[in-house]
Amino acid sequence: MTTRGNLFIVSAPSGAGKSSLIAALLADKPADMQVSVSHTTRQPRPGEVDGQHYHFVSVEQFKQLIAEQAFFEWAEVFGNYYGTSRTVIEQTLAQGIDVFLDIDWQGAQQIKQQMPEAIGVFILPPSRDELQRRLTGRGQDSDEVIAGRMAKAVSEMSHYHEYDFIIVNDDFAQAQADLLAIIRSQRLTQASQTITHSDMLKGLLAE
Ligand code: GDP
Ligand code: ADP
Ligand code: 5GP
Repeated sequence: MTTRGNLFIVSAPSGAGKSSLIAALLADKPADMQVSVSHTTRQPRPGEVDGQHYHFVSVEQFKQLIAEQAFFEWAEVFGNYYGTSRTVIEQTLAQGIDVFLDIDWQGAQQIKQQMPEAIGVFILPPSRDELQRRLTGRGQDSDEVIAGRMAKAVSEMSHYHEYDFIIVNDDFAQAQADLLAIIRSQRLTQASQTITHSDMLKGLLAE
């Protein structure tokens, strides 16, 4: 019997570093972890690849997918629609692979309602000034978009207490180690280990 994968919800104000942390985690393509590729109606940023960073769709296509109940959750964020595909998540978890959702707090609430065992991780920047520096330094959004995202940051961060774990992304390597520690701890729970080591436990406990 395969242990079902864990579902991790990773949220943060835009620019706090969640994409960088997830990308670093998956850089070596571990067989037991995958990031979920969302659908979005926003325009691709320079360098973003359809099907890899997002599935880029029109508003009409997105509404059609809502009607088909294709989404596990969906939300409007910064004036664009974003959604997580239902079937991909289910199939991946069933294969024993951990899945990471890079989604906002509205989506996180919807996932927690449907799947309370999902693990919420909130990434905080060390300060507002640093958040502004990172959004500007990323150099991928216009000044107007950055100003809008900064304005929303405080209300997004106010949801931090709805998550199971908090990571402060000050030193990147430390934040990466913290994320790995959270993932490891979930694989070491009694429920998970009972399934992973069922044969060994039978041997150890035999009369
Ligand atoms: P995007 O997905 O195109 O927006 O790319 P990001 O800006 O999120 O990240 C680009 C790359 O920089 C990723 O491979 C990250 O691992 C890496 N990276 C981001 N921040 C840091 C940092 O503070 N330190 C180090 N060492 N690497 C970083
Ligand atoms: P998000 O996905 O949360 O919007 P990103 O991962 O795109 O944020 O990070 C925003 C910017 O901040 C990127 O340019 C990234 O390289 C940078 N960054 C991320 N973590 C750190 C860190 N610990 N120290 C300095 N810069 C960082
Ligand atoms: P960005 O445009 O910077 O890639 O993402 C903007 C925001 O939308 C981020 O807070 C990100 O977590 C969120 N987001 C991305 N994909 C989804 C999704 O599928 N569902 C929800 N609810 N939010 C998402």
